[in-house]
Formats: sequence, structure tokens, C-alpha cells
Amino acid sequence: MKLAARVDRVPPSMTLAISAKAKAMQAEGIDVCSFSAGEPDFPTPAHVVEAAKTALDNGKTRYGPAAGEPELREAIARKLQKENNLDYQAENTIVTNGGKYSLFNLMQTLIEEGDEVIIPSPYWLSYPEMVKLAGGTPVLVDTSMENGYKITPEQLEKAITPQSKLFVLNSPSNPTGAVYSPEEIRALADVILADDKLLVVSDEIYEKILYGDAKHLSIGAVNPQMLERTITSNGFAKSHSMTGWRVGYAAAPVEIIKAMTKIQGHSTSNVCTFAQYGAIAALDSSQDCVAEMVEAFAKRRTYIYEAVDAIPKLSCFKPDGAFYLYVDISQTGMGSLEFCEKLLETKHVAAIPGVAFGTDNCIRFSYATGMPTIEEGVRRLAEFVDSLK
Ligand code: PLP
Repeated sequence: MKLAARVDRVPPSMTLAISAKAKAMQAEGIDVCSFSAGEPDFPTPAHVVEAAKTALDNGKTRYGPAAGEPELREAIARKLQKENNLDYQAENTIVTNGGKYSLFNLMQTLIEEGDEVIIPSPYWLSYPEMVKLAGGTPVLVDTSMENGYKITPEQLEKAITPQSKLFVLNSPSNPTGAVYSPEEIRALADVILADDKLLVVSDEIYEKILYGDAKHLSIGAVNPQMLERTITSNGFAKSHSMTGWRVGYAAAPVEIIKAMTKIQGHSTSNVCTFAQYGAIAALDSSQDCVAEMVEAFAKRRTYIYEAVDAIPKLSCFKPDGAFYLYVDISQTGMGSLEFCEKLLETKHVAAIPGVAFGTDNCIRFSYATGMPTIEEGVRRLAEFVDSLK
């Protein structure tokens, strides 16, 4: 059988593969400490579940408009105005099958052969693949632990060519947990606006998960010119522990939203109708449930950062947001894949090799898991590194 050439352009998702292997080992009865999954370990808030159940009872089980339920689009626009200071109306929004499809759809909408998309590295592993699937060329810009895993305005300026179409900004970041300060966001906006056409997609899916003094500024809020160049992508998976619901969204100038709606109309159609009613409840009710979850993440973050950083040969980046710890393993002399495979095989600890995110000298731990697992996993990790002597 001859498959389409585009299939060979992309590798399978390594994060999903390692999570699956860890789950299979658990199913065999092996006591695995898994730090692989990128999903909160909390249940979806009860009032959100109730709202979806009520929607089911009310017959919200049919096809809806491809761009989303009007009530949800209104609620998203209100949220973006109020919380993010982004001047969007409902017509500037589209509800998508998770944040992932908002980004995939956007790439299909904007990117074609010859277009370059600037992506700071390490990156969320699907960005370059989505660009390639759309026929474009990812332009990876290396960041380092020393500069906080953040692209500098000078680096961005240097990466821009006449072919540059889009810059991908992800703050707080997966995999590093880096958060750009408002000043840093403004400095990047200056560079974008100095170009005559560069657009930015701001993936804000971790915006609520911040620690200490970290502050989130949506780049589209910098000024009205910037809003015209911005596509804001977000979703409910991380903020409201709704990974399986598959509800995300994008907000952008109307022309882009109309085009994305066209693509959506011929691909996924509307997002599951009753799930959208859960999302309305998530936006329109108290956000205390989010704060409680972030408080738990904050405690785990302090613990895991200090404990892993104390292990000889490992050096950690202190995350300001999201729920990941990015660990430099250079001093062990191993590549990230070998390190993670041996760690899983010998100590039954699952982490994601940094090569999946563009940096083979690092590995990623998700601390969206309970404290006992974190404590035991770190103990085994220390034993593993000690055994490498
Ligand atoms: N963006 C980033 C940076 C992510 O880490 C994820 C999920 O892991 C997504 C987008 C997509 O999330 P979802 O499709 O579950 O809403």
C-alpha cells in the first residue's frame, strides 16, 4: 500500500508513545511512577460535569454551527475581554477540538509551501509537525537555560526573512515552564510590528498555571496593531482539567476565523455539542477550582524542583508556570532517549526525552501527579543517576 508522502514527513507523537508504554506496564501490575502525561490529575470540576449532563438531558445532542455554540463563543469573547484585555467579539472566536486542533486548523488556514514559521526551541512537539503537514518550513530558534528558555528580541529579529509568515509564542511554555514577563512580551511585539506582515500565534493554554510573581500578558493586548497580527489559542484542558472533553478555541481577526470555520466545516465540524455547555459553565462560574489546582501544583513544583536539582549531575530549570520540570542531563553523558528508556526499564519511572522537544540534553517531568508518586519517583531517579557512576 502506498501512503501519502506527508505521513513520512512527521514522526509519531513521542509523549503519547511513552505514556502508553508506562500505562501498559502499569496494566501488567508494575508499579510505575509516571511523569509523562501532560494532563492535570484532578477531576473535572463537578459544576462543569453537571452542566454537560443537563445539556444532554436538554437534547443538546445534535449538530451545531461549525464555529461553535453561539453562547460559548459569547462567553469566550467575554473571558478574553475581561481576563486578557483582548478586544474580541464572539465573531472573532472559533471553538475547536481542543487547543491542538485550533493550532492545526490555523496552520492549514495560513501556511503553504514556501512559508516559514518561527518556533523557539525547546518547543511543544506538535508545532513543527503541524507546520510540515501544512507544507511550510519550521524555523527553529534555540534558547537555553541561561536565557530562561526564552527567545530574545534580537534572536527573533535575526530569524525573520521575507518568507516568515508566523511566529509561535507559548507562554507559559511546555516543556520548560518558562513564562515571558510583560516587558519581554512587549519587546517581542515591537519586533513583530517592525516587520510588515509577520503574524503571531499565542498559545496560552497554560496561562492560569503561574507561580510566585509570574504574570501573564497576552501579546494581542499590547496594542490594537498587535491585536490585528495575533491569533490567540487556548482551551479548557489544562485550566479546568478537561483534557478528554476536547474543547479549545482560537480568537483572531474575523477574516482568519471565517477561513478557519471553512476548514473546520470540512474536517471536524462542530465540537461535541454537550461538551461545549460544560465549557460555558467553566467560564461563567467561579474560578476557585482553578486556584485550588494551581495551589497544589505550586507545592509540588517547589518540592520536585529542589529534590531533583539536588541530585548530582542533574540541573533543573525553575519553572514559573505550567506543570513541567525540564532537567538538563548533559553531565550523565547520555542522550535523552537512552536515559528515559533505561530509567523506565530499570526503575519504572516514566519521563519524556527532550529530543521530542528539540533538545536531546534534557528530559521532561510532568508533576501533574500526586505527591507520593513524586516523592517515590524522585527517590528512584536519584538511585538511577547514582548507578551510572
Ligand atoms: N498547546 C500546548 C503547549 C500543549 O501542551 C497542549 C497539550 O498538551 C495543547 C496546546 C493542546 O491541548 P488540548 O488539545 O488538549 O486542548
